[in-house]
Amino acid sequence: MNRRALEAICQTFAPGSEGVADAVLAAANKHLGPAERRQLSLLLGTFGRGFPLLSPARREAALRAWCDSRIPQRRAVFVALKQAALSFAYMRSESSWARERWEAIGYPGPTGTPADPPPRRIEPLRVERDLELDCDVCVVGSGAGGGVAAAVLAGAGLDVVVLEAGGYWSERDFDGAEDPGYDRLYLAGAAAATDDRGIGLIAGACLGGGTVVNYTTSFRAPDDILEEWAGHGFPSDELGGSLDAVCERIGVNTEHNEPSRRDELLASGLRSLRWHVEETPRNVLGCEQGRLCGSCGLGCPLGAKQSTLVTWLVDAQAAGARIVVDARAQRILVDAGEARGAVARSNGHDLHVRSRAVVVAAGALGTPPLLLRSGIRNENVGRWLRLHPGTPVLGVFDEEVRPWEGTLQALYSDQHRDLEDGYGVKYETVPVLPGFAAAALPWRSAAQHAALMDELAQTTNVGVLLRDRGSGRVTLGRDGSTRIRYRLSDDDLGRVRTGVDGAAQILEAAGARKILSGHSRVVSYEPGRRGDRAGFLRDSDAAGWGPGRCGFFSFHPLGSCRMGASPTNSAANPDGESWEARNLVVADGSTFPTASGVNPMVTIEAIAHLNAGKLAARLN
Ligand SMILES: Cc1cc2nc3c(=O)[nH]c(=O)nc-3n(C[C@H](O)[C@H](O)[C@H](O)COP(=O)(O)OP(=O)(O)OC[C@H]3O[C@@H](n4cnc5c(N)ncnc54)[C@H](O)[C@@H]3O)c2cc1C
Repeated sequence: MNRRALEAICQTFAPGSEGVADAVLAAANKHLGPAERRQLSLLLGTFGRGFPLLSPARREAALRAWCDSRIPQRRAVFVALKQAALSFAYMRSESSWARERWEAIGYPGPTGTPADPPPRRIEPLRVERDLELDCDVCVVGSGAGGGVAAAVLAGAGLDVVVLEAGGYWSERDFDGAEDPGYDRLYLAGAAAATDDRGIGLIAGACLGGGTVVNYTTSFRAPDDILEEWAGHGFPSDELGGSLDAVCERIGVNTEHNEPSRRDELLASGLRSLRWHVEETPRNVLGCEQGRLCGSCGLGCPLGAKQSTLVTWLVDAQAAGARIVVDARAQRILVDAGEARGAVARSNGHDLHVRSRAVVVAAGALGTPPLLLRSGIRNENVGRWLRLHPGTPVLGVFDEEVRPWEGTLQALYSDQHRDLEDGYGVKYETVPVLPGFAAAALPWRSAAQHAALMDELAQTTNVGVLLRDRGSGRVTLGRDGSTRIRYRLSDDDLGRVRTGVDGAAQILEAAGARKILSGHSRVVSYEPGRRGDRAGFLRDSDAAGWGPGRCGFFSFHPLGSCRMGASPTNSAANPDGESWEARNLVVADGSTFPTASGVNPMVTIEAIAHLNAGKLAARLN
């Protein structure tokens, strides 16, 4: 690859930054497939011809032209390069440039590992040669779905093997550092996105999956959603017992809701508008609710977050389950219409698991490719992908907010939950560290971006989380790689727009001096001084809402192998079993018939609990 061109690009985004091109190349080599690597190489070849020879001002103009291009692929390239260059520039503690920027911002650096971490609870099975294993049930994935399924099945006396593609990291590794935290714990180092890079896909990819890195918000599926799902043939009337069991095991409570400054500002805005605000139920025990918590997206160093790593997987192991990490399932073995095991690669070795049943819980982005590679052809496999796309509205205050600190999400608002037919948005705020902020903030020039970063300590966010009615699709590319297509429908975008307006109202009511949208162009106003909300919305519309125009993130991929009453409109039956293979059971976020509209972990765990319980009863 043309390193010189990449270096010039990185230096244009963040002049003076150190080691960024090499970090980007290392990440690309690790996380991109062969086709994507070839594309990057071609692109850098194109840039390589003239870009490094341009003056700094002309290089900036060239990047802006890509950002504003009418050609979506160019905007996609801009987004990918911008996010990679700026996040690596700001998150590498070995870079003196990054440390100087942290000091200027007031960010004290990573929290560090705990002095006295709890002992490691899981002892993964080591794979040091090609291996064959026999068991009753092979569980693929160890997140919200897989972790629970493993515990239920092992608890029912079945011999269980868990295959997890990611590594095992525990409290002693959770030092709050973005680098190497994202690389260890997140899908594609947190750089995954839809094919057009319109929506960043943020998902856990380690032992414990999303439950290790998530924000602990623990809502049960609302009754009206369960009623809607019943209409799809989903067994809503059976879920209550599993929801109770899950909330009990992961300790859902509202006793750890000391608000962060972000949450206080959210609540202050909501209360002055007389809008709905409520405490968020959370799955934590002994949570610090302070400095450490802002980095909890990189794992909780206290073990307070009741992820599957400290709950269900521990139960599964105690009941005899064998847990294999760094083991990516490549194919499910299906023989005569029945699941018979899985083939995986682990540490360069072949792993062959023979079993009586397989539970697939590789997440809504991982389950469809695995099923498709295994010859499952139901047309609903990969369809109906929901993302709960979210976009931030930022508020800059005169006071310090320190968005990298405090309880993850202590409060939320459902004021606009139902804008139309049960579809709407939720307002929540998320903790933000410098690397993530640098990638998300608009870049029009190095100086403009640096000025926004200089205000990070005074900046909060209100996340607009959409319950999406439209859907996308997960497919396999010709080279076998995962392709994720998703375009926000106009109908959904209308509700996003209302949500962005609502978030601006909240921030204005809380006293923000400047309010910015998540657009690639800088769209902002200063209440009472420059512009107003109506102009803000007009400028947002002018900047556009399409891919590469406005930044969206998804923390909740769902629905891509949905459960339902018939193979014509679902991928799995009401027991979560594939319509095409007996004892091949889906048990993760992909099972949702439609978007839940609430943060989904508890519901996913309950579905896994229910489906695994039924499978155990059949096998026993
Ligand atoms: C930063 C962040 C914050 C979030 N905050 C919240 C929150 O506050 N509340 C909430 O309810 N939800 C939250 N979520 C979402 C929630 O964590 C996920 O919806 C949930 O974990 C999904 O469960 P799952 O079982 O479907 O998949 P995951 O938990 O993603 O687990 C899938 C696992 O399968 C593994 N895998 C994939 N392919 C293979 C393969 N071929 N072989 C073996 N293993 C494989 C992956 O590595 C992964 O570990 C958050 C998510 C993120 C990323």
